[in-house]
Amino acid sequence: METGERSIFSRIIAGEIPADVVYDSERIIAFRDIAPKAPVHLLVVPKTEQYRDVVELAAGDPALLAELVATAQKLADEHADGDFRLIFNTGAGAGQTVFHVHAHILGSPDGGLEEG
Ligand code: C5P
Repeated sequence: METGERSIFSRIIAGEIPADVVYDSERIIAFRDIAPKAPVHLLVVPKTEQYRDVVELAAGDPALLAELVATAQKLADEHADGDFRLIFNTGAGAGQTVFHVHAHILGSPDGGLEEG
């Protein structure tokens, strides 16, 4: 999370910023990425902003990480063909821009993702 401020995803969770929400449960929310990189590009986000990245989440709440991964499969079944890439950008050097842990689901409804 950005120093001293709530993350942009916390503001989406609070309804302060609009998002195309596709899943909402007690501990996890998912919405369409505003700048999609694949036919199906969803973000799966734990509602807590306690964890900056997947490494912190895995260490701090492995059950929540497992729930996030299971949610990704459910969403890939519903929105794509069941197959998906699950990407956790970890660190600014790897392209992470929002320091509130989130997974990118990249998929396609009709099979086949372009390489890249
Ligand atoms: O992994 P990274 O931190 O770069 O991912 C952040 C993602 O959040 C980006 O893909 C960006 O398009 C997305 N985003 C969004 N809605 C916002 C702000 C960012 O979908 N309001």
